[in-house]
Amino acid sequence: MKLSMNEATALSCQAMSLEQDILLCEKYGYDMIEPRTMDRMRDYLSEHSIEELAEFLKAHGIKPLAFNTLCFFNNRSEEGYRGILDELKQMCKWGQKIGCKTVITVPTVSLNKVTRSEIHKSAISCLKEMGKLAADYDMRVSVEFIGHPAASINTFGEAYEIIQAVDLDNVGITLDCFHFHGMDSKISDLAKADGRKIFIVHLNDTEDFPIGSLLDEDRLWPGTGCINLDEIFQTLKKIGWAQDVVSLELFRPEYYRMNPNDVYRIGKEHADAIIKRNFG
Ligand code: ZN
Repeated sequence: MKLSMNEATALSCQAMSLEQDILLCEKYGYDMIEPRTMDRMRDYLSEHSIEELAEFLKAHGIKPLAFNTLCFFNNRSEEGYRGILDELKQMCKWGQKIGCKTVITVPTVSLNKVTRSEIHKSAISCLKEMGKLAADYDMRVSVEFIGHPAASINTFGEAYEIIQAVDLDNVGITLDCFHFHGMDSKISDLAKADGRKIFIVHLNDTEDFPIGSLLDEDRLWPGTGCINLDEIFQTLKKIGWAQDVVSLELFRPEYYRMNPNDVYRIGKEHADAIIKRNFG
């Protein structure tokens, strides 16, 4: 099992950049990284080329896991959706240059009075088109449901229903443990799923606030909160998930105030404990 770092985890720590994150991955034994496209990637590319990024990753032995994140793909205006396709195409081109195979996309948040059937209809039609576009670049699209009431797709069951209807080999799901817990996704839904459709797993934990009230800032080191991570991982094993990599993704202000070296070191210790106990 490989370990990846999501750049959100040390996002607001002092003096951080994409290069800094890659160096800390190397220093603390992470295998992969999820570059943040909306800030870290853009900052990097304002001063460097994508070819330089490919070289930098290679020089430090770190592979890119997934681009994070293509935001708010469904139920958009025509113009908004065209923008999503342009962004996707850009990420696919970057992916080919740096060997990144997956784009994570998240559903639209705070839609005003839109029915579930309209959400499903839009999500399915957008993902079919996005999946076909990504396939031309040999890339995958991975839908990350958001475990909050304001998100238009907020449980595993709902996201899985949508990607089943899309029915493309390169369109699957990002299972973020925090989001899985956030709206009380059912382990029985995960147990019924095809593990090959789980493309990315975000590892984290959370404080025990009531379902529907959890925010990203409530995330905790994996194994120190209230999520039954072992149950999630044991279920993933049973349904044929690739068991290839998990990515540590936290957004906790308290951790942002720490030295980034400590964030990487402590994060690795907690992640390794979960991995060891579930995957040997
Ligand atoms: Zn996530």
